[in-house]
Amino acid sequence: MEQPLSQLNIGQSAVVTSVNAKGEVKRRLLDMGLCRGVGFTVIRIAPLGDPIVIKIKGFDLSLRKEEAASILVETEIKDNLKGLEREKLYSPVDTLHKNRQTDRKEINVALLGNPNSGKTSLFNCLAGAHQKVGNFSGVTVEKYEGFVKYKDYKINLIDLPGTYSLTAYSPEEVVARNYIIEEQPDVVIDVIDGTNLERNLYLTTQIMELEVDALYAINMIDEVEKQGIEIDIPQIQKLLGSHVVATSASKHIGMDLLLDHVIRVYEGDINVSKNKLIYSLRIEEQLEKLKNLLQSDSWLSSRYNLHWLAVKLLENDQLVYETVKQRSIWIRVERIINETIDIFEKSIHRDPDVVITEDRHAFIRGAIRETVQMPNKVKKNLTDYIDDIVLNRILGLPIFFGIMWLIFQFTFTVGQYPMDWLDSIFAFIAEGVGTLLPGGFLKSLIVDGIISGVGGVLVFVPNILLLFLSISLLEATGYMARAAFVVDKAMHRIGLHGKSFIPLITGFGCTVPAIMACRTLKNKADRIVTMMITTFMSCGARLPVYILLIGAFFPPSQAGNVLFGIYMLGVLIALLSAFVMKKVAFRDESEPFVMELPPYRKPNASSVLRQVGFKAGMYVKKAGTIILGASILIWLMTNYPVSRDIAEHYESVRTEIESDTTMGSAEKREMTVLAEREEAAAQMEYSLAGRFGKLTEPLIKPIGFDWKIGISLTAGLAAKEIIVSTMNTIYSVQDGEGTKSLASDFKTATGYTTATALSLMVFVLLYAPCMAAIAVFHKESGRWKYTLLMFAYTMSVAWFVSFLVYRLTLLFI
Ligand code: GDP
Ligand code: MG
Repeated sequence: MEQPLSQLNIGQSAVVTSVNAKGEVKRRLLDMGLCRGVGFTVIRIAPLGDPIVIKIKGFDLSLRKEEAASILVETEIKDNLKGLEREKLYSPVDTLHKNRQTDRKEINVALLGNPNSGKTSLFNCLAGAHQKVGNFSGVTVEKYEGFVKYKDYKINLIDLPGTYSLTAYSPEEVVARNYIIEEQPDVVIDVIDGTNLERNLYLTTQIMELEVDALYAINMIDEVEKQGIEIDIPQIQKLLGSHVVATSASKHIGMDLLLDHVIRVYEGDINVSKNKLIYSLRIEEQLEKLKNLLQSDSWLSSRYNLHWLAVKLLENDQLVYETVKQRSIWIRVERIINETIDIFEKSIHRDPDVVITEDRHAFIRGAIRETVQMPNKVKKNLTDYIDDIVLNRILGLPIFFGIMWLIFQFTFTVGQYPMDWLDSIFAFIAEGVGTLLPGGFLKSLIVDGIISGVGGVLVFVPNILLLFLSISLLEATGYMARAAFVVDKAMHRIGLHGKSFIPLITGFGCTVPAIMACRTLKNKADRIVTMMITTFMSCGARLPVYILLIGAFFPPSQAGNVLFGIYMLGVLIALLSAFVMKKVAFRDESEPFVMELPPYRKPNASSVLRQVGFKAGMYVKKAGTIILGASILIWLMTNYPVSRDIAEHYESVRTEIESDTTMGSAEKREMTVLAEREEAAAQMEYSLAGRFGKLTEPLIKPIGFDWKIGISLTAGLAAKEIIVSTMNTIYSVQDGEGTKSLASDFKTATGYTTATALSLMVFVLLYAPCMAAIAVFHKESGRWKYTLLMFAYTMSVAWFVSFLVYRLTLLFI
């Protein structure tokens, strides 16, 4: 009986009969092997009921029910579907011998392959370069380059992002594909996970089509042997048309052999006979027509492999469309494409791209049948056992929250110690420098501007290191994909991806690492939206402000509720914002949840540490310079200009106190301190920041603030903790020996109402994050457009919500 995949229960097996999704989702599903005639078994459903996991071609694939609903399957497996398999669907082309000029002793080699096939490990093994090893689909975003000197050659290596197919899909896949097509490396090494040939060979069939100088590395050969899989390498070599080297990147097997082959391919000493597979008859006919037509365009034919171009056109490949659309032959090309679609619609009711994909899978099935001997008993593997617990319908969520809690504790509780050490180290340095330097401009600039600015950057480093250590471990072990799987349903409700969860909870600790954690999101729209809304998750630095205000304006019995309310308000605004942004600005740009759940693996300590160090270094270098500049700016603003009148006035006040004979020395000291505070407050009012605060008064009056709050909030952009200390200065409220503390005195000193206090808390919760976070946001988003949008958005949301809170409180209390 034919039915949608989404209706199957756990344990049910079926065969795909058709995929009715559209656009990218369809492409993705086809590339992951969900096409006609392919068998699979539903093995899991997420604790929240969505997404599901199927075992297909030997790997675990998770997909949302929404996507599963578009796939029709047949539960009674009929034999005629098997008839699709064709063996030896390829044509050996005559061996090509390139007479390359070998005086160039440098070879450019690209590593291409599925995510988690071991490209990065291989790259590290060969180049020993700094590079990340993860276990989360598509961790490598940027290109990483390195080189190895081998037998008089300098072999340049590039580790491309993992990709399942050469169809442009995610940005990383576009990077990988464009590199191969546009940059034309001398040799392409296709890194194949030997334990999962069937899925990995799908990319291989497309590399064959490109007619590049390819070499095939069947990696994880140690695992292959352990699992008892037998691969007939000479035979597979014949089918693929180029040399195959068995490697193990983690056990360092086959490395020299691989490099030897690279050199031999480059020197033209190896038979790279470029096989390409033959498609169904009608496809081949249309390809032939297209190729003839394309040939007439000399620009295209000098630049691209025409066979590949023709295949991509029939595959409905948008990037290729865009290229060909620029050419004058496009009209005729389009006619052939439409004609092909017509032919297939009439005869078999399927799109040509589906047929092409099916043909590739059929070729692979034939090849596998000829070359691979699977062990007789397919045992449940370790990953299955672990997932039975970790993705369990009852235990899945508690385990997830437990792990998140651990990460949070680890990052912020453990991180507090080194943070405090750094804090005191900087205080010590500031004090040391302070006593060494004479007073005045230079001292203040160095101590209050530069040292505190640099310190403000460096104190976050422990948090960043610990958070990224946790995230890297999650990725390297393979849990990250599961975490996304477990919470995806909830996150999908607001239009986000399961992976957005980790940045969001990290935001409760500190916005800086939270924004950096958004890197795990591959979809640009998801990433930008998540980055924007993490700023609403109340970070640790805002807590002192709440404590001060709640302590001053609310009875202890209500304190807890108010604090909880503030935090929840942040979460609510964040979720609402995401929902609205996805609806308004980033429509249709969601990442489909069709994701491999990679097998659990033991993380490689050195590569995890290397990657964590790399991230922290990048933070210090890039964000550091911006933050340093900004902190000097804010320092200048709060300290300049200096009013000579005010200074002279307080100078005379001090001499008056000195010469007053009615006071004792203790009283004099107290009066002097008071005068100094008053002076600081007056100078602050006179400074640029003070004037700015006053300037903003009309703007913030409707939400219950005066210019003094304006100054504090402005200074708070440097760091949220500063809000409290600025208020301290402005109100000249005493602390320490024998004087009243700010909190108890705050209400009387300021004369604010409860409405103002609430409004202020809400504003502090929601307004633009500190400049460290803004700098990181800018670095990570890469565009001023987004940074300005974030600033404007957080500011206006803060204003409107504060306005509501202020007015409502005035009404009801
Ligand atoms: P990439 O996504 O292709 O860059 O793959 P990685 O290099 O990040 O490797 C994915 C996982 O496979 C990591 O946990 C590696 O330690 C592991 N791995 C890589 N090569 C081998 C290998 O040859 N044998 C085994 N057993 N594991 C490997
Ligand atoms: Mg990688």
